[in-house]
Amino acid sequence: MNTDQLNKRFSKSTAEEILEYFLKKFSEKIVLASSLGLEDQVLTDMALNIDPSAKIFFIDTGRHYQETYDVASETMKRYSMQYEVYFPDTEEVEKMMKTAGPNSFYESLELRKKCCEIRKIKPLLRALKNRKAWITGLRRDQGITRANIEKIEWDNAHNIIKINPIAQWTIDMVWDYIKKRDVPYNRLHKNGFPSIGCLPCTRAVANGGDIRSGRWWWESPEHKECGLHSNKHNGRE
Ligand code: SF4
Repeated sequence: MNTDQLNKRFSKSTAEEILEYFLKKFSEKIVLASSLGLEDQVLTDMALNIDPSAKIFFIDTGRHYQETYDVASETMKRYSMQYEVYFPDTEEVEKMMKTAGPNSFYESLELRKKCCEIRKIKPLLRALKNRKAWITGLRRDQGITRANIEKIEWDNAHNIIKINPIAQWTIDMVWDYIKKRDVPYNRLHKNGFPSIGCLPCTRAVANGGDIRSGRWWWESPEHKECGLHSNKHNGRE
């Protein structure tokens, strides 16, 4: 089945039904990418309810908020689970810090992308190695860069299937699930941070402000991605 057929098949399915199907289908070869954000916490709860041994990874960029580590710790205890953790390459970080300085991401788009490449994209390659599919918490209303995502996509960048079970959810649906299931969440979400990334590249947004406007706030909206989700869609499985 190609991704068009899969999207048709799951067009009326719940996020749980989609997760259950793919967790069973791919078993050890499917992994949930968690940034410890609200949406990823919803999927963590769902996935572990379906399969307590579901694989979930976290990329430790080395620049996260303490609150992000707090929610990781709380989640591990709540579900008696362990994350797969991926760090950036030590030598590459050392070289970048030495040559460009600790705040190079503010100086140019090129340097910001370089930092994301070293701290996020390369660790992601290791996390997805030998997988057949990955699961993300992307939602369409998270901004213009995500407006056209499908529930099931072919990820050209990594040559695997990418599953976005809550692509059609609104932020209210996410909060309803979190409250109903008493899912641990990052305290920063209650302090004006709808989207949380690395500390130096994330700030609070005004009430009602665009969800991703606090990420890389000095850049224009079309650049507000780190590259983790820059796949092209061609409908292949
Ligand atoms: S979000 Fe900022 S600190 Fe984090 S990897 Fe990207 S540029 Fe570096």
